[in-house]
Amino acid sequence: SDSHFPIPIAPSHVDFSLHFPKVIEADNKISKKIEFADIGCGFGGLLISLSTLFPDTLMIGMELRDKVTEYVKERILALRKTSSEGQYENISVVRTNSMKYIPNYFEKGQLSKMFFLFPDPHFKEKNHRRRVISTHLLDEYAYVLRAGGIIYTITDVEELGEWMKACLEKHPMFESLTQEELDLDPVVELLCSATEEGQKVARNGGQTFRAIFRRIAYAS
Ligand code: SAM
Repeated sequence: SDSHFPIPIAPSHVDFSLHFPKVIEADNKISKKIEFADIGCGFGGLLISLSTLFPDTLMIGMELRDKVTEYVKERILALRKTSSEGQYENISVVRTNSMKYIPNYFEKGQLSKMFFLFPDPHFKEKNHRRRVISTHLLDEYAYVLRAGGIIYTITDVEELGEWMKACLEKHPMFESLTQEELDLDPVVELLCSATEEGQKVARNGGQTFRAIFRRIAYAS
């Protein structure tokens, strides 16, 4: 339960020197903030791919399962140790319940990308309230995302894909990216190829359903 992990009372109380010691060391002012959040990051494959694609951006995975979080921590530490070029210092992971504590970790407008990749489907109607994308939670995501920030969602469950898309379409603070924008975004292809879950779906020849939306500046 939640009592087993610490919960910061506000974003200013998160000790990021524990997560990004080398970055903080090099940048005394601690001026950098986390910009990408991978929600329900699982085994961390996306973070690892993004780390070298955006070496100057700080990113964090949020994961509920204790053992999985510990595994991702170890995986990142091992990569840092074996990298001769000082790579992987910009990624970290935290154990938390993202459905409850996003505003404890991020300030208003702090994030430029949020990822919700292959989230648990919670099929039964009475469990829909447990889905990580909902109208209510999108209010929180719109709060922590900056104007122009992007929310990436993907699933192999068609019904969940339609649900996530519908929630985003009807939310006043999000608009869909155009096909041209999707084609130009190098992150889009990683949603499947870099995640453990995406790789599993690809191995089994499964279909995926994406909804990728921009946080707009003002509701029209
Ligand atoms: N995104 C990863 C991928 O694509 O490989 C993992 C997908 S996995 C099916 C869903 C993950 O979300 C699980 O690791 C689960 O523990 C995590 N999760 C579920 N609910 C969560 C919550 N409320 N907060 C944080 N993580 C959560």
